[in-house]
Amino acid sequence: MVGHLDADCFYVSAERVRHPDLRNKPVGVLGNNGACVIAKSYEMRAAGVKTGTPIWDAVKLCPTGVYVKRDFYWYEVLSRKMLEAVSRHFSPVEYYSIDEFFFRANAPRAGQRLHDAALAVRDHILEACGLPVTIGVARTRTLAKLFSDTAKPFGAVTVTDRDHERELLARLPVTEISGVGGRRAARLAPYGIRTCLDYAQAEGRLIRQLLTKTGYELWLELNGHPVTPIRPERTPHQVLARGGSLMGNVEDPTVLWAWCVRHTERLIEELHFHNVRTDALGVSLAWKDGESTAGVCKLPVPSDRFDELLDGARTALRRAYLPRKVATHMHVVAPELRRARGFQLSLFDPPNAKLDAVARVKTAVNERYGRFKLRSASTLYLPAVYADPANNFDICDVRGKVCF
Ligand SMILES: [Mg+2]
Repeated sequence: MVGHLDADCFYVSAERVRHPDLRNKPVGVLGNNGACVIAKSYEMRAAGVKTGTPIWDAVKLCPTGVYVKRDFYWYEVLSRKMLEAVSRHFSPVEYYSIDEFFFRANAPRAGQRLHDAALAVRDHILEACGLPVTIGVARTRTLAKLFSDTAKPFGAVTVTDRDHERELLARLPVTEISGVGGRRAARLAPYGIRTCLDYAQAEGRLIRQLLTKTGYELWLELNGHPVTPIRPERTPHQVLARGGSLMGNVEDPTVLWAWCVRHTERLIEELHFHNVRTDALGVSLAWKDGESTAGVCKLPVPSDRFDELLDGARTALRRAYLPRKVATHMHVVAPELRRARGFQLSLFDPPNAKLDAVARVKTAVNERYGRFKLRSASTLYLPAVYADPANNFDICDVRGKVCF
């Protein structure tokens, strides 16, 4: 059996952990630039505010709402705590996203029913982390995720018998399956496939014809045949990148360089976290007129060190740069990763003891006192970015989260 655990309105619940006075009030969490609601409490949802609603519409729909800016650093702290709590009850656990985990839901303590074990984790997380979560347990990941959604909020559902499974599937439209959107649903509709039960009971061959291999694999999962295993370890990265919007139009090369250094510093954190080095560094730029350019610089040796990557970034940016044009987005990319151990140093490696020591001091200071406490002076040209604590933690810095 597979379990799926999903925190209820995670960002809002996380804000309520540190601001208990937000409980029972309509709360909306805003994105980086404060422009739209990226998460809302049930109270705010009742007022008609949806994920993605712009703030100016949200305050009209819900004038009594409390709107707070997101703080992914805090959410990640709670996410780790949840992971730890689940791991005490079940193993292995897969960190699927910042607020969702899959786990193998087999053999709880002797004599304990599986459903009671699910309830125990749910209650443990509320107690230990202050977060309400919902759990679904079923024969496969796809089923578990579908069913946990039906039990929200603060629910737990364990589906062990087939009649119960069919009864739940019959109530869910196919679009509830993650991976089946409107377009795929439209292809199924002419065959009378509207509910998840219709999907599961359709001919496998027909599903494969209509929705290719992806759809067929979902069909297998809906029929209780696990396709995707629980992955406690993340698959190793091929490429790492950091970047995003330049928060406006940038023409000044000094400011472009400042962003480039900022993203390089963020990228280095990732290289350290994943214990990899890169053979090359790339910079890509999106320009306001729709054009985009990229530059790559091969490094003399695979590196994760600030001074070496900065040299690479300088060359790469120069190659991507177009004078007198306005840029809007930038990414710094490490396209050729190698495990930090197990590569050969060249005979001509530059003497690096001093710079190596400087890089290590920088990492140590920032680990102890907070990100970017010690950073390159080139980034002084971005005072607004560093004055705003929320900007220290862009969404893409949260490992395992794909959107926002
Ligand atoms: Mg959730």
